[in-house]
Amino acid sequence: MSVPPLDVTEGVVRSACDPADAGDRAAMQTVLGIESSCDETGVALVRFGNQGVPELLAHALYSQIEMHQAYGGVVPELASRDHIRRVLPLTEQVLAESSRDLADVDVVAFTRGPGLAGALLVGAGVACALGAALGKPVLGVHHLEGHLLSPFLSADPPQFPFVALLVSGGHTQLMRVDGVGRYQILGESIDDAAGEAFDKSAKMLGLPYPGGAALGQLAQSGDPAAYKLPRPLLHSGDLDFSFAGLKTAVLVQSKKCAAAQGCAVHDLPQATLADLAASTQTAIVEVLVKKSLAALKLTGLNRLVVAGGVGANRELRRQLNDACASLGVRVHYPELHLCTDNGAMIAMAAAMRLQAGIQSASADYSFEVKPRWPLDAICASGTMLNPG
Ligand code: ADP
Ligand code: MG
Repeated sequence: MSVPPLDVTEGVVRSACDPADAGDRAAMQTVLGIESSCDETGVALVRFGNQGVPELLAHALYSQIEMHQAYGGVVPELASRDHIRRVLPLTEQVLAESSRDLADVDVVAFTRGPGLAGALLVGAGVACALGAALGKPVLGVHHLEGHLLSPFLSADPPQFPFVALLVSGGHTQLMRVDGVGRYQILGESIDDAAGEAFDKSAKMLGLPYPGGAALGQLAQSGDPAAYKLPRPLLHSGDLDFSFAGLKTAVLVQSKKCAAAQGCAVHDLPQATLADLAASTQTAIVEVLVKKSLAALKLTGLNRLVVAGGVGANRELRRQLNDACASLGVRVHYPELHLCTDNGAMIAMAAAMRLQAGIQSASADYSFEVKPRWPLDAICASGTMLNPG
């Protein structure tokens, strides 16, 4: 099927299918975004014009967590099959909620990577099939860029430049962000991500997958100073992280407690489990906060953006807010329900790339997914039109 190409005019991507008049309505574009990188199927519609922050029209999310809980982690094949079941009903839902239909979609965006290969293929396949059927161009989005730009979906969007602390289940990174597609990694985890440290520690304490939020909840009734756990790389002098050793220390400490009480870790009294949870959380949060402050100092910037699932953690938010308030630094977070994976951030990242004129959507419906895809790769990518 041949589709008219997009052209970039004054930084705005305009489809040749659009009405010729340059009025405000004609300048508006609607992006359908599909997220399917792991165990959440997300679909959203975002509208954008020549300028201003793109607007979320509707989003719908289906989490597979319950299905994977029986296995204690994500089963990739089950995840892929469930994405197939959910993606079209969710698309119908967002269209109905925004009183739009498929003909109103100008661009179909999808998560191209990183993530589970089979799961990514579902979103990419559906997006490209939809694009081909509708005669609309498609755009593959970097999942981490989605997280990074998700605070722009909040009522208090940030302004560039800023330091970003990206704390998801799979990644922990500090970045300098000067604009859309202009990311400089300042430091990152050399092993486990902070989300992984939360999840693996939670599992050891007998909490259900994914344990990050449950550990945060349990920690509220515990003593954060009960057990002295390591703060890895806190004084390393750089902005890298390491959480694998902390996870081992939590295991060793939990076993000590269990041996002292003559029971299994899972059967420890609730108060001991809460103390272990609070001690674990405080160790992770202290490292994240101190390294974020060091990144702000290094860059001289006075704005911090926190993104990714761990950004929902109350203690992290409390400590960052306190520390940043005393330094005159503004902190921005995504809305709580948009911290973990969702389609809104994918539609938003696509809209912002198109609006900034750094990437065009494509009417070539062949696709490949990128299960491993470092974020800095998209800064130097050949798809960039205006890298400066
Ligand atoms: P990914 O994109 O790698 O799948 P997400 O950004 O979706 O990761 O975030 C999921 C991660 O966030 C999981 O590790 C989860 O445990 C963690 N998480 C979610 N809510 C909280 C919370 N309140 N406290 C700590 N961790 C949390
Ligand atoms: Mg994610």
